[in-house]
Amino acid sequence: MKKNDIIELKIDDIGVDGSGIGKVDGMTFFVKDAVIGDRVSAKVMKLKKNYGYARFMELLEASPFRVEPKCPLYRKCGGCQIQALSYEKQLEYKENKIRNNLMRIGGFVEDGIPMEPIIGMKDAYHYRNKAQFPVGRDKEGNIISGFYAARTHSMIPVGNCYLGVPQNQEVMERVLGWMNQYQIEPYDETNGLGLIRHVLIRYGFRTGQLMVCLVINGKSLPKSEPLIDSLLRIKGMASITISINRQRNNVIMGNVVKTLWGADYIEDFIGDVKFCISPLSFYQINPVQTEVLYQKVLEYAELNGDEVVWDLYCGIGTISLFLARHARKVYGVEIVPQAVEDARQNARINGIENAVFFVGKAEEVLEKTCGVGAAVGKNEEDGDGGVREKAVQEDFTVEKEREGERWAEEEKMMWPQVVVVDPPRKGCQERLLESIVRVKPEKVVYVSCDSATLARDLKYLRGNGYEMKRGVGIDQFCQTVHVETVVLLTHEKATSYIEVTMDYDTIVSEYKPKVKVTYKMIMDYIKEKYNLNVHSTTIAEIKRSLGLKVGDYNKKDDANYRKEKITPEKRKAVEETLRYFEIIQ
Ligand code: SAH
Repeated sequence: MKKNDIIELKIDDIGVDGSGIGKVDGMTFFVKDAVIGDRVSAKVMKLKKNYGYARFMELLEASPFRVEPKCPLYRKCGGCQIQALSYEKQLEYKENKIRNNLMRIGGFVEDGIPMEPIIGMKDAYHYRNKAQFPVGRDKEGNIISGFYAARTHSMIPVGNCYLGVPQNQEVMERVLGWMNQYQIEPYDETNGLGLIRHVLIRYGFRTGQLMVCLVINGKSLPKSEPLIDSLLRIKGMASITISINRQRNNVIMGNVVKTLWGADYIEDFIGDVKFCISPLSFYQINPVQTEVLYQKVLEYAELNGDEVVWDLYCGIGTISLFLARHARKVYGVEIVPQAVEDARQNARINGIENAVFFVGKAEEVLEKTCGVGAAVGKNEEDGDGGVREKAVQEDFTVEKEREGERWAEEEKMMWPQVVVVDPPRKGCQERLLESIVRVKPEKVVYVSCDSATLARDLKYLRGNGYEMKRGVGIDQFCQTVHVETVVLLTHEKATSYIEVTMDYDTIVSEYKPKVKVTYKMIMDYIKEKYNLNVHSTTIAEIKRSLGLKVGDYNKKDDANYRKEKITPEKRKAVEETLRYFEIIQ
């Protein structure tokens, strides 16, 4: 077999990016846009030792699971990888993916996986509460909104995205109508001229409140009154803002937001917890399934109101606050300071007083608080050989002798009976799993967005005294290959309290300042958010090009130096991440 050969194959699986997978002569082929059950002819584009990539040519026999995709642009856009597969089959595929990973990576046997049936959505479209439409001109010069085709910078006009709410279309028609009427220029990224870059729309599913934010390449918006008048005809309009982004880059939002009309934010609920969502805040994008997921966490945690719960990787504290009314105390840990500020604010507006949030690394905060120090000095990034830890412990001993009773109380107060983890795709650090095993909470509830790393982590926990009791897949991102999983693990000989070696005040004061952002954090974030591997030298190059100070670094001396092509995609990811960590404005 060689390149450009035409092959025929039956598709029997789906790859991580949604491609169809089939076999020919023992070789595995990935065929984009082919669906499980299809027989297709395809042209070999790339050949490796045991696998290859082939381009879909002809549908020889359509799969019984094939459906007409709702969206005419689905192949060009690339956002919905499996829209041509019936929703029932999508769910079956996702459930099998979780089970297969648990067997292949997690060491489970086929009938030993206590999974409940996957939970899908009644309406597998229109679930997104957030949309961001770029604005530009098409080849004929008409002002259009749309999406950039996958991995390109050419704009495909889109009047409507089926994953979004129907209101998006009306908002966009009104904004484009206003631009045409008043000759407001769309931004042109090739020359940096023009005003309107993006339109961000957010919708509160429970409150019906609608937010429109125009991202502009200027200081203010001319002719804003007729725009406001027009947008106010849409039911639920609650907040109209502009976000100023005058940088010539691909970052969508600017940091400065000004309110033109209404509130600075919209409100929405998950369960009975209220959230204020501003144009820049992080918020779950499928609120309906998010609530289903959190209900499962609550059900698995089986709280009776007297527990201490740790919510690790807590983001803006959504799970923490959802659980707080059912627990004695909840401690949330999150690495991004802005998210923790939001979490504290959300606690305040809901009058929740038993939730405390720390900025820090999950793998460090739990370990230090509960004094289990599994890997003190072992973490290369710390590099202080555990000296800091030792000093803290010495301080602590003196304190402890002085105030024995108060300490005993503090210790008990922070020791968790339930630990919830909701890590990014790369899963939990082993160091965190070690600490959990030492802290030995009765229950661990693991929320995962990648069942492969979940399976890896379950293998560790099962090898160290925990048992998987229940699990369920939840479809939060219908039409895409992603699936969330919630798993309950219990420990037979759990301790509700062992010795604690640090006090609450120390932790709070130690973790309050901003974290030092390391290259590793930047690389991990880029990997998680954009699924890109970026070398530290690339980050350094980009930082330098932005006029930031970069340590004295000589490429010739670095044996690990790899010359990497800085694609616009990588540059964009790095710049957005630097902004995210507040390294650039
Ligand atoms: N539980 C939240 C968010 C989960 S997303 C929710 O349901 O909305 C994962 C979060 O983990 C992100 O907010 C990310 O910033 C954070 N994170 C990544 N690495 C971390 C680490 N080592 N320690 C703590 N938080 C981390």
